[in-house]
Amino acid sequence: MPNKKIIHFRNDCIGCGNCVEYSSEYWELDDHDGKANLIGAQEKRGIFSKSIEPFDEEINQQAADSCPVNIIQVR
Ligand code: SF4
Repeated sequence: MPNKKIIHFRNDCIGCGNCVEYSSEYWELDDHDGKANLIGAQEKRGIFSKSIEPFDEEINQQAADSCPVNIIQVR
């Protein structure tokens, strides 16, 4: 089975920092606009994505579940 991806619809991020709390290896808040960055992600039309190892799925699913505006998907 191919690795899952994290998808981040960054434009709608409100910078609450929940995702960073769950996984600072994957997420950081941007110093300039205060939104979350998915570290090392590729961007296409404002949507960021990154392939993840299976052992990182759960923590990122928790980050997704914690996002108040539902802009993180693990799929
Ligand atoms: S949890 Fe969602 S809204 Fe909050 S910083 Fe992360 S991506 Fe942005």
